[in-house]
Amino acid sequence: MKTNISLEEAQTLLLALAKPVKEGYVSLFDATGRVLSQDIQAGQDLPPFAKSPLDGYALQAKDTEKVAQLGSVKLSVIEEIRAGYLPAKKVTSGTASKVMTGAPVPAGADVIIKYEAVERNGDYITISDILNAGSNIIQAGEDIKKGETVAYKNNLLSPSLIGLFAGIGLSKVPVFNKVRVAILSTGDELLDPAQELQPGKIYNSNLHSLRALCLKLGTEPIAFGIVADKQAVTAERISQALMVSDIVITTGGASVGDYDVVLDALKQMAANIIFWKVDMKPGSPVIAAEKNNKLIIALSGNPAAALITFNLIVVPLLKKMMGLACQLPLRISAVFADNFPKQSPQRRFLRGRIYRQDEKNYIKLTGEQSNGILKSMITCNALIDIPANSGPLCVGQKVSAVLVGNIDERTAAVLPGL
Ligand code: AMP
Ligand code: MG
Repeated sequence: MKTNISLEEAQTLLLALAKPVKEGYVSLFDATGRVLSQDIQAGQDLPPFAKSPLDGYALQAKDTEKVAQLGSVKLSVIEEIRAGYLPAKKVTSGTASKVMTGAPVPAGADVIIKYEAVERNGDYITISDILNAGSNIIQAGEDIKKGETVAYKNNLLSPSLIGLFAGIGLSKVPVFNKVRVAILSTGDELLDPAQELQPGKIYNSNLHSLRALCLKLGTEPIAFGIVADKQAVTAERISQALMVSDIVITTGGASVGDYDVVLDALKQMAANIIFWKVDMKPGSPVIAAEKNNKLIIALSGNPAAALITFNLIVVPLLKKMMGLACQLPLRISAVFADNFPKQSPQRRFLRGRIYRQDEKNYIKLTGEQSNGILKSMITCNALIDIPANSGPLCVGQKVSAVLVGNIDERTAAVLPGL
């Protein structure tokens, strides 16, 4: 068992062990946020036929050459073609068909002129422009050609990709299954927020914050309840959780206290302990273990520590299991717009908010930084990475941060209403 390893080593070790989950098919209605498990080739052209981009008249461009000598040409209108209906007639020299936006281009026509550019009298139109063949026609396959690869394995299914699949007549897509994440909350002191608070007890917030993060990421969290600080019970619950999930996340009891039983519970289960403790603050007591080819990650029970280590260690792992190609969080450099008077003998992650001002990135602290403080996670969109043996930080210093949320342009970094 490795111990006191760096965050990067922890990430690398786990990413090497994590495998994407099995594959299946989902309908487009259920595809948002899922990850493709195969490349996708278009089975047909998009659009499937040449069509009109506007309301106008389809005709032969060569008929308009006479405009040069005559000033205008007159064509007879032979039919009206609506979107969704096929033309009945062929356009020949001297004729035109009225077309609506989205209507198929009739045979014989090679150009479309918009309504506003012609003069209509009865069954005739008068045109005063010389037109080029091909203009104002959306050719079949102009967007996507049959056989073209439109998306690749490991692509996240975005709204535009889902729309494109619909456009080429794909109603079911091959995706990686949802990663089932069992979440166990260990601690004798924990109560469910629906229960009445008892003396000495606290509400279980970790389950809810981690479950929400899992949902946001597109995984399927399984709330596995509260487990007492007892080794045998903890081992039993983790074993049960392993049977119904792809990965088990526990919080609490991962440190060195008398009632921190998770490490011993994992040993009792004969799980292979990969590492214990990561060199970072908050959240150093992380345990990673493997049993039956499934990973178990035990995090500190401190609410902020649990969220921070979940973001830095568990999220990349889940992304790999989801089938995503890009797993590690983005790093951004920013100007520190705050003061942090403490020394950092150990590597430290500070909760901050990156914002853009005058085309530069700035970052402010989001509030109290101690382990148990959850409030400063609310507006946190980046974790400032302070190397070990750093002194106090002051305004103007350049820092590196790991992005855990969205950046915005607002300068009032930590104000209510943000
Ligand atoms: P532990 O990691 O078990 O030493 O717990 C560290 C701190 O986090 C203690 O103050 C616990 O009471 C608290 N804690 C543990 N689990 C949770 C939880 N699920 N929700 C909220 N606080 C917790
Ligand atoms: Mg505890």
